[in-house]
Amino acid sequence: MIYSIRWKLLVGFILIVAVAIGTVAFVANRTATREFDRYITQDQALKYQRLSLMLSSYYEQTGSWEGVQKLIDRISKTYQNRIVLTGVEGSVVADTAGLTGSSSQDALNLKIATLGEANNPSGFLYLKDRKRSELEKIFLSSVNESITFAAIISVLAAVFLTLIYSRRTLKPINDITSAAERIERGNLDQEVKVKSRDEVGKLASAFNSMAEELKKQERLRKDMVSDVAHELRSPLTKIHGYLKAIKEGTMEANEKAIDSLYRNSKLLKRLVDDLQDLAMAEAGKLNLEKQPILLSDIISKAKESIHLRLEEGNLELNVGSNGKVLLNVDPDRIHQVLQNLLENAIIHSPEGGTIQLGTELTDDQVEISISDEGEGIPKEDLPHVFDRFYRVDRSRSRTTGGTGLGLTISKELVEAHGGKIDVRSEEGEGSTFTVTLPYKEKGRVADNLPRNWDNPNQ
Ligand code: ADP
Repeated sequence: MIYSIRWKLLVGFILIVAVAIGTVAFVANRTATREFDRYITQDQALKYQRLSLMLSSYYEQTGSWEGVQKLIDRISKTYQNRIVLTGVEGSVVADTAGLTGSSSQDALNLKIATLGEANNPSGFLYLKDRKRSELEKIFLSSVNESITFAAIISVLAAVFLTLIYSRRTLKPINDITSAAERIERGNLDQEVKVKSRDEVGKLASAFNSMAEELKKQERLRKDMVSDVAHELRSPLTKIHGYLKAIKEGTMEANEKAIDSLYRNSKLLKRLVDDLQDLAMAEAGKLNLEKQPILLSDIISKAKESIHLRLEEGNLELNVGSNGKVLLNVDPDRIHQVLQNLLENAIIHSPEGGTIQLGTELTDDQVEISISDEGEGIPKEDLPHVFDRFYRVDRSRSRTTGGTGLGLTISKELVEAHGGKIDVRSEEGEGSTFTVTLPYKEKGRVADNLPRNWDNPNQ
């Protein structure tokens, strides 16, 4: 409880109210005392002025102070202070405390008036130092009571409002905490409903995006596991079937069986290699060994690596000009992309067809396009050809040894170089895959290029 924000808010607000009320109480008390004193002083000054006039006229009328004690006693009730009247010679002639006769000036410290004329006084009026009157005490204590009452009400209001306010403000945070705990327990389908646009609202929407992304990643992970299991099953089942039959003696280990075992194990190997490439690319762990390299060098090597397959299919590869572009890429990875696109073009080309490999330069990028005259890709499949394990024609793809990962890996590799890959295709008319890469320098055949890459033309 004491570590909760609610508790901290509560303590904070109570402290603020206490400091505010304390300051107000101090200032109000001081001001009230001062103002009250001033008011009393003014009031009393008037009263004593009247008193001295009354006593002076008494003396004028009677010619002595005889019997003045009675008058003093009568009027003393209106005054809170001790009033002392002395004759000119200093002896006390009247005293509200009843101590006449003795000279008690030492007990008096304020002479407030000389009675009679200044050059012929008839007596002097004194009063004892004014103490805080009962009335004043009552007034100040009622001020203090009011302040105390206000303090109690304010603290209670602060507690009440803080509890309501903190409940409203902290509810989304509590919701986020509960949702995060449910995610921790494996329930990824979480969304926090927050309408506010403040920091808490932003936190909630960031949390919702994170939960959505987690859900997506989890779905991808599950799909991936089931896709991989599915892809591995087919070649493994075949290998297992052949080996079992040979072991049980129902089949001979003849050339056909060995050939099938070899093809399926090759497919398995390729699948595992592709999966590893894909996993590394997706995790951003591809160590690209970039170096300045001419595009024409990469194209020559790709051409070299597929020339046998071109011959087998009686196919022609036309390479356009403009390959003299200096790229800053990992040559092996870009070669892998071109080889994959060319192999796909070969697989899908009709016997005796032509494959075009063209390059086109724009201001700061180069477009490498590979077109074939094959069957093309149906419109509905086109957006998915870069998805992992996606095959337009599953049965045909398997017989050609395709894993359904080639284009996915190519896309990852090209994007890792800051480029992109697109496809255009018309059913029955062929397909064109275009790789766009940023390049370093155009049209310059650098003689001092590092030629350490495996360049077949060198
Ligand atoms: P695979 O290894 O199975 O060829 P890819 O990822 O390279 O996998 O290609 C995915 C799918 O896209 C292929 O199975 C094929 O159906 C389709 N495809 C790729 N290239 C072409 C092409 N040039 N012409 C027609 N279809 C193609």
